[in-house]
Amino acid sequence: MRVAVVGAGVIGLTSALALKNAFPEYRVTIFAEIFTPDTTGDGSAGLWGPFLLGDTPREDIVKWSGITHRWMENFWKAGLAQETGLCLLPVSRVTSEINEELEPLWIKIVYGAHRYTIDELKKLSEQHNANYINGWHFVTYTCEPRRLLPWLTKKFVALGGELVRRKIRDLDELIEDGYELVINCSGLGARKLVGDNTVIPLRGQVSRASAPWLMHTFLIDDEDCNYIIPNTNTVVLGGTHQEGDYDLRVRDEDSKFIHEGCRRIFPSLKNAEIVKSWVGLRPGRPRVRLESEIYTTKNGKKCHVIHNYGHGGAGVTLCWGCALDVVEIAKNLNLIKSQNSKL
Ligand SMILES: Cc1cc2nc3c(=O)[nH]c(=O)nc-3n(C[C@H](O)[C@H](O)[C@H](O)COP(=O)(O)OP(=O)(O)OC[C@H]3O[C@@H](n4cnc5c(N)ncnc54)[C@H](O)[C@@H]3O)c2cc1C
Repeated sequence: MRVAVVGAGVIGLTSALALKNAFPEYRVTIFAEIFTPDTTGDGSAGLWGPFLLGDTPREDIVKWSGITHRWMENFWKAGLAQETGLCLLPVSRVTSEINEELEPLWIKIVYGAHRYTIDELKKLSEQHNANYINGWHFVTYTCEPRRLLPWLTKKFVALGGELVRRKIRDLDELIEDGYELVINCSGLGARKLVGDNTVIPLRGQVSRASAPWLMHTFLIDDEDCNYIIPNTNTVVLGGTHQEGDYDLRVRDEDSKFIHEGCRRIFPSLKNAEIVKSWVGLRPGRPRVRLESEIYTTKNGKKCHVIHNYGHGGAGVTLCWGCALDVVEIAKNLNLIKSQNSKL
């Protein structure tokens, strides 16, 4: 069986690795225009935490993110933290906006969750000159894609997976080439590749600061939000999420918002050197698309395509859970295939 995976971001790599693990006999090839260290995930902090997922059903989020959390926990226990870029950190996640999700379903997945009391929120608000009305303190992982993605690539290649740098203009190209199953993990690229106009960029600008004294993540879950997420060597300061904005340039006004907002939360950042600023385009979608379809080429050739894209601000958080669903779908497609001589 020849399988083509389009996309080498965190979603494509995990899907390809999970497929190769499950079906060692399959010939799996990743086709991508961009590989690590230049994918969307490479600039992200890789904090575990559902974020910017639109109306993706809460049960799916809990399932996919829970599986990914346990996957990260296994890295932790297996001594793979260095290789996979894993850190275990205390997190404060607060909001000053009215939100239906006073107790998000995913809160049960993280370690030691504590809902901030009114007094604690008041104290934090005074310190930050804010007006927090809800918030949680817990412990979870960051899995830094700049380390995770090379590790996933190495594992995939060691199992016999192949990598091809190529832009795919049309899925027909792959199917006419003889691929029997296509996994579409093209992120924002799905807009053009499969004409899905519901996928839009959620522009994210961040800075990286040198602040090795900071070991606490703080995230404000508001429309305009600042966050501080320590990684292994630097601390990520965020951020923006401008819908429909394709501008990849670092903007001064966003830098000002980020640096001033983060310093208000942790004044110790005042003297931290900013080592880098970066912009990435999150693949936003009203909901994650994870499903199969029977695709017909212009020449009438049919092929199963499994779509796995639109993970917004949580591709790292959901990746392994989604990859295992791709495997489940692929298993069931095999059954259809053997019963359906036309496919
Ligand atoms: C500032 C910022 C901070 C973030 N922080 C976090 C965080 O802390 N935690 C978290 O979980 N998530 C975070 N995210 C979100 C996360 O980075 C994304 O959800 C994730 O990277 C999406 O992965 P992807 O593989 O779907 O897309 P991408 O990484 O964009 O990969 C898409 C792949 O498809 C390929 N492709 C597309 N079209 C074609 C084509 N036609 N032909 C060939 N190849 C094609 C591309 O070349 C690329 O290889 C953040 C994102 C940003 C921007």
